[in-house]
Amino acid sequence: MQHSFFIFLYTGAEFLHETGKYAEVHVCCPSLSSRANKPVSLVMLEHTGNEKFVADMDGHTNTVDINADTVSRRGWDAVQPREMTQMESPAHTVIVHHTALRFCAHPRESVTELAHIQRMHMQERGFDDIGYNFLISGDGTVYEGRGWGIVGAHAKEHNFYSVGIAFMGNLNADLPSSASLSALLRLLHIGVLHGHVRPNFVLLGHKDVAKTACPGENLYSVLPKLRDRLQNNELLQA
Ligand SMILES: [Zn+2]
Repeated sequence: MQHSFFIFLYTGAEFLHETGKYAEVHVCCPSLSSRANKPVSLVMLEHTGNEKFVADMDGHTNTVDINADTVSRRGWDAVQPREMTQMESPAHTVIVHHTALRFCAHPRESVTELAHIQRMHMQERGFDDIGYNFLISGDGTVYEGRGWGIVGAHAKEHNFYSVGIAFMGNLNADLPSSASLSALLRLLHIGVLHGHVRPNFVLLGHKDVAKTACPGENLYSVLPKLRDRLQNNELLQA
């Protein structure tokens, strides 16, 4: 039986990328390392219907959702959080942000930027981790921040019941790409399907709950359209 795989090799400086169909994949650290010419951490994604299997160089495997191209924390080399607080129940609100920093549309840029944001949040702002639950780059890649079911630090007084998702860029000036908007919708479908987000959740921009320009005018102005698209999708009417 053949499976499709997407293989990302991350060397700490760049992504090597390979896509193909394989009946079997043997993970061999030395050959991968020599190909990359540096130590690599491997994220291997196997498509098997609704889930992917992700393996890293230590042989740990996890199942994650397939419907969004999600890069796990391990995939972008996130620092361990100081502390984590579990959410008590599925989120009933999704709050959209922008990072108000560099627009990222390439894995190499995004990974560097993610490390920068995490450092900023942990060292300068004193957060336990990167503040957002997820971040989405211009190429439509979803990066795991705190992930599902963990209380974030993205919207004061609203963190305990909301998921915070940030678009990477300054969306007052940058336009949200259609890939990034579709990625957001797919991510939300996954959240609902897996019970992390209530089916009747409310989609808000950060400025709906705080005095801020976040998530930027160009992103905020498409939220009504996104709500329509969400409402027209059967998955969310269950
Ligand atoms: Zn915000």
